[in-house]
Amino acid sequence: MLYIGSHTSFIKDKQLLGVVEESLSYGSNAFMFYTGSNQSTLRFPINHELRDKAHELMKNNNIDKNNCVVHAPFIINLANDSDEDKYQFYIDFFKKELERCKELDITKLVLHPGSYTKLTREDGIKNIAKGLNIALKDIEGVYVLLEFMSGKGTEVGSSIDDLKGIIDLLDRDVKNKVGVCLDTCHINDAGWDIKDFDIFLDEFDSKIGIDKIMCIHINDSYNTVGAHKDRHANFGYGTIGFEKLINVIYNPRLDNIPKILETPWINRNEKDEWAPYKYEIEMIRNKKFTDYINK
Ligand code: FE
Ligand code: FE
Ligand code: ZN
Repeated sequence: MLYIGSHTSFIKDKQLLGVVEESLSYGSNAFMFYTGSNQSTLRFPINHELRDKAHELMKNNNIDKNNCVVHAPFIINLANDSDEDKYQFYIDFFKKELERCKELDITKLVLHPGSYTKLTREDGIKNIAKGLNIALKDIEGVYVLLEFMSGKGTEVGSSIDDLKGIIDLLDRDVKNKVGVCLDTCHINDAGWDIKDFDIFLDEFDSKIGIDKIMCIHINDSYNTVGAHKDRHANFGYGTIGFEKLINVIYNPRLDNIPKILETPWINRNEKDEWAPYKYEIEMIRNKKFTDYINK
């Protein structure tokens, strides 16, 4: 079964209900959102009435909550523990974000593993595992999905070995709560041609296990293979292209895994800005490219 959706907005007076309504307007049966700003730790309280209405609307439209994910804000960096207070702040905030997922009755939280900055990659890997072991010790019912990164700057998680390194250092009970979120733009930018996606999956399966893949971000890329840049392009408008992305989406080994578009909004000028998702999802369902931007 195809579960496809997009990034959506969680706004203060609509919250999860707004997310579900927006998703339905695109024809989605999956979605992703930040529970507040993606750049800061500013968070408003969760309204339970809106949450319950949202879940009701999901039920009526056959959206399974397990195909819906929260994305943690970018500022959390578990890879660098050189400033103890900061590191503790990140762990505490991350725990709060996990609690918010529980409160919203959402079971998956995507996390950028982090950047090792002035430390070494090996230190970064150890620190991320340490942070996850602390943060996930006492929480049940939410999976943390480590995102495969493009390798911009000192990012950890831009190789299968990085992710394996983190997962191998997790405590046994924490390991069961951690999965992986792939991202086609990031995999491309990290150095894999998406035409070789099955070879990527073979290596992933032998080193980590394909069952750990619990979400896939579907993005085209503005950059070439191995560029380590991380600039998402609209579906079929980038260097990866329509066919290769369609093959990822319909790869039988990834059936039933939620696929989330994080492609940019279309912006002709300040007054004319619109979400591409309705069109991209339609193209994906039809397996046929239409130049919806220039038509
Ligand atoms: Fe991400
Ligand atoms: Fe992503
Ligand atoms: Zn990205």
